[in-house]
Amino acid sequence: MTYDTDNIFAKILRDEIPCDKVYEDEYVLAFNDILPQAPVHVLLIPKGEYISFDDFSAKGSSAEITGFYQAVQKVASQLGLQKEGYRIISNMGANAHQEVLHYHLHLIAGCDLGRMIKSGLV
Ligand code: AMP
Repeated sequence: MTYDTDNIFAKILRDEIPCDKVYEDEYVLAFNDILPQAPVHVLLIPKGEYISFDDFSAKGSSAEITGFYQAVQKVASQLGLQKEGYRIISNMGANAHQEVLHYHLHLIAGCDLGRMIKSGLV
């Protein structure tokens, strides 16, 4: 699969469509999800062209990978989420229902998030 430069997050990175920005640095852009699933629902995306967690982990440079994950902690800290806790999710591929094919993490918080996934999958 090749990276589609017309995906919605690529357009956000190019400032072709707006976002509700939470944080930005050399490696990452973080913005509020347009359809939040919890009181806090931030998306974090690397600035490079990576399709998924798998793609980013395989092809990202050490600086990109380190910078990206350190930014997740910075955003959680900036939003004051450490005390009550938060969840990080990355959907990868069809079974996980990944909709946008630019790698992203969901940072979700602000209430009791329940168990990790719905029961009854096995
Ligand atoms: P995923 O299913 O993991 O690919 O999640 C994609 C996420 O992107 C969903 O939670 C959407 O609500 C979110 N989303 C799609 N378009 C936008 C947008 N323009 N601004 C912010 N979030 C978006």
